[in-house]
Amino acid sequence: MPDTGSVKTQTGAHSPGASDDMQLIILDRDGVINYDSDNYIRTLDEWVALPGSIEAIADLSKAGYSIAIATNQSGIGRGYYSLATLAAMHQKMCELVQALGGEIAHILYCPHLPDDHCMCRKPLPGMLQQILEYYPSGIDAYFIGDSLRDIQAAQAINLPAVLVKTGKGQRSLERGLIGEDIPVYDDLLHFSQQLLTPDQRM
Ligand SMILES: [Mg+2]
Ligand SMILES: [Zn+2]
Repeated sequence: MPDTGSVKTQTGAHSPGASDDMQLIILDRDGVINYDSDNYIRTLDEWVALPGSIEAIADLSKAGYSIAIATNQSGIGRGYYSLATLAAMHQKMCELVQALGGEIAHILYCPHLPDDHCMCRKPLPGMLQQILEYYPSGIDAYFIGDSLRDIQAAQAINLPAVLVKTGKGQRSLERGLIGEDIPVYDDLLHFSQQLLTPDQRM
């Protein structure tokens, strides 16, 4: 099984001249950016953006936030889809964001099975740590996910976690899995609008 997959999609994401007040937003993919499926997202056509998610990423990017993605993709390890198909999904996602003037700086995926005992599969924080290494230490960062394991991965390295209700988010909330200290937003667009509205900063 390959190591954690990493795709650098943007040049200059960690340029020496990056400003000190740069902020980083790390996103889960399935259920946050695109519709999730209990049956996995296996084809390019099955990768469909959630309403407003692309706009949200573009808006955050244009406002100066660096955007990265950390996604469990055990469907690779299970043989449900290929790395080439995964790359095509991510190209589609990046192109949609770029069409609105934004950029995704890094995409990391864990291709492993739970039994592989890798360090990158969430709820372990390996991918988040790897992303943070691309940036100045101490950078302000959030991790936004829809599942308990996203929240756990962030909390494992004391990264502020945010839950969106899309994907598994609503279910996770109803099961009482999410701590009351975790900010909850309807979806990624709701989060970005709140963050980017000057009077309502988190
Ligand atoms: Mg998810
Ligand atoms: Zn892994």
